[in-house]
Amino acid sequence: MRFDTVIIGGGLSGLVAGIDLVRKGQKCLIVSSGQSALHFFSGSFELCNKENDPMKAIASLDACHPYSKLGAERVEALAARVKPFFAELGLNFKGDASANHWRMTPLGVMKRAWLTLDEYATFESETEMPWKKVSVLNIDGFLDFHTSYIAAALEAKGVEVAVASLSAPQFDKLRESPTEMRSTNISKTIIGEFVDALAEQINGKTDGSDAVLMPAVAGLTGTAEVERLKELVKVPFHFLPTLPPSTPGIRIQMMLKKYFQQQGGVYMLGDSVTEGRFEDGKLKSIKTLNNEDTEFEADNFILATGSFFSKGIVASQNGVAEPVFGLDVDADSDRTNWYQRNMFDAQPYMTFGVATDEEFRAKKDGRPVVNLYVVGSVLSGFNAIKDGCGAGVSILTSLNAADQIMNL
Ligand SMILES: Cc1cc2nc3c(=O)[nH]c(=O)nc-3n(C[C@H](O)[C@H](O)[C@H](O)COP(=O)(O)OP(=O)(O)OC[C@H]3O[C@@H](n4cnc5c(N)ncnc54)[C@H](O)[C@@H]3O)c2cc1C
Repeated sequence: MRFDTVIIGGGLSGLVAGIDLVRKGQKCLIVSSGQSALHFFSGSFELCNKENDPMKAIASLDACHPYSKLGAERVEALAARVKPFFAELGLNFKGDASANHWRMTPLGVMKRAWLTLDEYATFESETEMPWKKVSVLNIDGFLDFHTSYIAAALEAKGVEVAVASLSAPQFDKLRESPTEMRSTNISKTIIGEFVDALAEQINGKTDGSDAVLMPAVAGLTGTAEVERLKELVKVPFHFLPTLPPSTPGIRIQMMLKKYFQQQGGVYMLGDSVTEGRFEDGKLKSIKTLNNEDTEFEADNFILATGSFFSKGIVASQNGVAEPVFGLDVDADSDRTNWYQRNMFDAQPYMTFGVATDEEFRAKKDGRPVVNLYVVGSVLSGFNAIKDGCGAGVSILTSLNAADQIMNL
């Protein structure tokens, strides 16, 4: 079976590259084993959150960082394409690359962010809040959102907080089994007429507040329910992130996948790429677990298999490896250098990943594979936690790879 481009891994990186390529007329296949980091999405994408000015922070990153390889000018140009890219799919974000804004974590900690989904609360300052009084509402019995942390964080910034909970027979049914009381299952109940009933209940609990804050538990398959809530709730209404799973993250994953397929892309979910056939410094074809007799051939390939979390790279007693093609990895051979004893220090293993040349082409046995581009968190040279750059690296290197394939 022949494609223009085959993409291995269908998380944020693989889907962004795939969508950009199918929009430009390419015949694309994405093979993806399963869940991606989007299922744990915070509501915000990070470009580089070490300073308020992300571009200034990017200028001081190590030479091996993917942004340093791209160059500041290219990073800025690629970053400017991201909001319109998602808006075309109906996913609207606030923020831009000229200055980071602030967001709140599920535990009430303030963090810098680049782009945040429209429905989430964002802040211009870490310390000054836009409200005098807010209502923090939880779903009765929902354990993945802790109003006490949120309230304490807001009160420490001088905001008066009224905490209340929302109840309904739909939620009571989920509570019969604690494992069912997850954000994704709650969101499946917040549909149809119940959205209006919930908005009415919220309006009864605003208690003279300037805004309502709620866990992100609506809008699993699209934004319609969230838009309806915003329309019906009489004071400004914002989501805060929950502990995983992330309902809006799964929505992004599903909407990207659906859009890719609508544009003619082929997405094989639940299958894994197991091996590749290389000839003359090129990858010619791949095979998958479920289609072991079929060779999927292409002119170009993109590796978007994620980091340790998604098994894009794996660690064993003997070292760190890229498991599909046996590509070269940048990793310390001495295990004692993989980690710092203080778990809050920057962990060296976070920078391990597939080695690439200056064009982000994978290296195998020291030589670049000229038609195999590496994108996203499987790349080496950056620490997504320390540099606060996870989604930025994923999206920008993916758009860059698509441009390279199209010779743009
Ligand atoms: C838990 C977690 C939460 C994060 N939250 C945020 C956040 O809120 N904001 C932010 O800016 N950054 C966040 N990040 C950083 C994150 O790395 C990026 O945002 C981004 O989503 C990574 O996308 P990716 O596509 O490169 O990798 P992944 O999302 O890991 O996707 C890789 C995909 O490849 C598939 N795969 C792996 N091997 C194979 C194979 N052999 N064959 C086929 N498919 C394969 C996997 O199943 C997976 O679906 C988070 C990272 C983690 C680990």
